[in-house]
Amino acid sequence: MRFILLSCCAPCSCAVIKTLAEQGQDFAVLFYNPNIRPKDEYQKRCAENQRVCEIFKVPFIELEYDNEHWCELTKGLEDLPERSKRCSICFGMRLRRAFEYARNNGYDAVASVLGFSRYKDLDQVNRVAHAEAERAGLPYLEIEGRKGGMQELRSSLIKEFALYNQTYCGCKPSK
Ligand code: SF4
Repeated sequence: MRFILLSCCAPCSCAVIKTLAEQGQDFAVLFYNPNIRPKDEYQKRCAENQRVCEIFKVPFIELEYDNEHWCELTKGLEDLPERSKRCSICFGMRLRRAFEYARNNGYDAVASVLGFSRYKDLDQVNRVAHAEAERAGLPYLEIEGRKGGMQELRSSLIKEFALYNQTYCGCKPSK
């Protein structure tokens, strides 16, 4: 199976990219994160995620930075906390685009790392992802990014490669 791995950043994806690459899985990392502000922060995270892909020899794809559209979709929800409806909309926008890209480019499925941070509600991400999968007619793969030593691997890779590790999710500094 050839699949897309939607990634938000290097720290959340490094352990999974290394593990999947070592398993010989056929996948490409997709960076579609128009939620990240400001633009120079977006560019920094994108470059760092690309660096991780180069280390583990995995294809890296960057899509458009459509922050205007993201702002339209989340208008009026700016003051809600993380894990709120704003995050469901944000996950939905990014996953929908990932499925669209997968369909148009001959991939069989989509997976993501969007729920791997301890600040995230993994069930919320999975619910949104499966709804987008049904809409697109392609499966969503729930891959393991938290248990089975993945958090320890993440920490050791961040240290080993001195990965840039941001202090907020994307749309604004956490309160
Ligand atoms: S906190 Fe993160 S997931 Fe939630 S809306 Fe902002 S950028 Fe998106």
